Amino acid sequence: MRKITEIIIHCSDTQEGRDVTADEIRTWHMVPKEKGGPGFRDIGYHEVIRLDGTVEHGRPYADVGAHCEGHNTNSIGICYIGGRKIIDNEGNWQWADTRTKAQTDSLRRQLAWHLLKWKLTPACIHGHREYANKACPCFDVKQWVEEDFAPWFEANKEGLARAMAAAVAMNIVEEYFGLPYNSILDFIHGFKKKE
Ligand SMILES: [Zn+2]
Repeated sequence: MRKITEIIIHCSDTQEGRDVTADEIRTWHMVPKEKGGPGFRDIGYHEVIRLDGTVEHGRPYADVGAHCEGHNTNSIGICYIGGRKIIDNEGNWQWADTRTKAQTDSLRRQLAWHLLKWKLTPACIHGHREYANKACPCFDVKQWVEEDFAPWFEANKEGLARAMAAAVAMNIVEEYFGLPYNSILDFIHGFKKKE
């Protein structure tokens, strides 16, 4: 496993309310360069958070992603679906934090899991736009981490760490590291979502 030092948050740069799957993003990312696409060999992100909060896995964690130039080698890329908001009847739009409550809840849990897994602190969480001249992920990650995530993480850290230890003890690490993550964490921890 490569060394992880940063978690970088992205948006899919798609309209609010339009759900997009990891497979669809994979298709976009794999359009060859000669056809005007990025020409990646796989989806660029490691995780995608759908509108209903479902977490879909993209590139394996062990693989270097393709989501943030100059910061891919030691990072995990997480993309929430959204980032554009229609602002009038003509279909004009602007970039906006379109995260649903379910997406924000999932993002907190994914971030908590990654911090515990890779032994990082909330200071290791970044938004793409900190490293590129882009709007992505359309919200101030540092501010959100400081005001929302870090206090929540501090309050839930021990329970989450126990849940991870329990997953190891119950020999369900494969599932824990794979797709049924949400349900397993809920199951083990009796996780209470922040209202
Ligand atoms: Zn991005």
